[in-house]
Amino acid sequence: MAEAVEKLTKKSEDPSKWYLQLVRMAKLADYGPVRGTFAIRPYGFEIWERVQRDLDDRFKATGHKNAYFPLLIPESYLKKEAEHVEGFDPELAWVTIGGREELEERLAIRPTSESIICDFYKNWIQSYRDLPILINQWCNVLRWEKVTRPFLRTSEFLWQEGHTVHATAEEARAETLQMLNVYQDCFHEAMAIPVLTGVKSPSERFAGAVETFTCEALMGDGRALQAATSHDLGQNFAKAFDITFLDEQQERVHPYQTSWGFSTRTIGGLILVHGDDRGLKLPPRIAPTQAVVVPIWRGNNKGEVRREAEALYSELKDAGLRMEVDLDEEHSPGWKFNEHELRGVPVRVELGPKDIEKGQAVLVRRDTREKEFVDRKELAVRLQALMGEIQENMLRQAAAFRHENTRQAESYDEFKEIIAEKRGFVVAPWDGTAETEQKIKDDTKATIRLLPFERQDGEDLVSGKPGQTAVFARAY
Ligand code: AMP
Repeated sequence: MAEAVEKLTKKSEDPSKWYLQLVRMAKLADYGPVRGTFAIRPYGFEIWERVQRDLDDRFKATGHKNAYFPLLIPESYLKKEAEHVEGFDPELAWVTIGGREELEERLAIRPTSESIICDFYKNWIQSYRDLPILINQWCNVLRWEKVTRPFLRTSEFLWQEGHTVHATAEEARAETLQMLNVYQDCFHEAMAIPVLTGVKSPSERFAGAVETFTCEALMGDGRALQAATSHDLGQNFAKAFDITFLDEQQERVHPYQTSWGFSTRTIGGLILVHGDDRGLKLPPRIAPTQAVVVPIWRGNNKGEVRREAEALYSELKDAGLRMEVDLDEEHSPGWKFNEHELRGVPVRVELGPKDIEKGQAVLVRRDTREKEFVDRKELAVRLQALMGEIQENMLRQAAAFRHENTRQAESYDEFKEIIAEKRGFVVAPWDGTAETEQKIKDDTKATIRLLPFERQDGEDLVSGKPGQTAVFARAY
């Protein structure tokens, strides 16, 4: 009997519709009643938990500890750092009533926690012996975003924010760059997402920072995504919040700070980088289910196939793989194949009566859809190896896509044509002025994603003035 299945829009035809439909069909997230709020459903949350664990281990390995700070920030705290409050003001949501009483001072729901954390640090730091402070917080934040899209840009989102304090400018800069590398490693090794790293232009710098560093990823539709940022705050916040310490010469001085953040936006990145017309494609390192056993039975052999499938599932689970077995009796094997492909499960293990007879099972990879017949006795070992192969292949494919979609523009006409027709990253010299940056944005909607660490001299395509290479793209 043919079953009614909602058909996923083709990614190439309408990436926006494809994305929203996939988020819903794969049960990753669902819309909340307040604009820009979403429930992250168990399957989506399990992906987030795996990413979170990977990143948290990396934070711990680099000497950081987790802590938790209050959700509500008094207005007077936010106002202490002038640039910071100006930058965040349009995105703030306020609490003005508590227990029916009008509050004397309004309280912002944290959009980021620099200001409240600085107030604690002021008391925690007295001498150079108290430094460095290496603290991270996992929490939710709220920013009143105008245009929202599940995971990619939401009003409330989950993230981590690292907040460190150091005795010297050099140490703070080294920490900022170290955490940028930690993010890059997580993207490459866990999420199979290649990211470019570099410096933000002043117009895109975090409000209150002296320098913002970024990881930028290229999505499957040729648009860029700012995937994580690491800020060198210099002494700006320390001065505004009056944080001082006695240095080794017994002089009272301001310390240097950093902050760095990585959010649930990255789940959106994962969908857009790897997903295809069949649905999600999850890298084995963070896939909630690494392989699913799908039994193929007919009426007369259902009992035996079912038993064998359950036994195989237990065997593979005991071997350390994250497994599922699909014993649903309502749907056909073909329906199940589609469903698990849509959910992005890296490998499907098919088991039918013939396979049982021959002592084998069929493995089907989600990334290449290649099939292989494997002896039952070798299945666990082969599957473990396959996880590594798929993980590597996914990173390789995403890197090849980025390579093919990174272009040099020799003239402004060529620049405009690439952005309009092909998208992707465009590398071109920029004269360093906000005027040309703005003109390019107005003409093409492309923004400077980053200034590479190694820049080359050239002539700005708009002004003809001397400049250095920048990477442009239209972004999410
Ligand atoms: P920021 O503190 O503004 O540098 O933000 C840190 C990171 O959080 C950014 O690099 C984004 O990846 C992410 N982020 C910022 N705004 C949002 C949003 N509205 N929804 C989801 N993630 C966000």
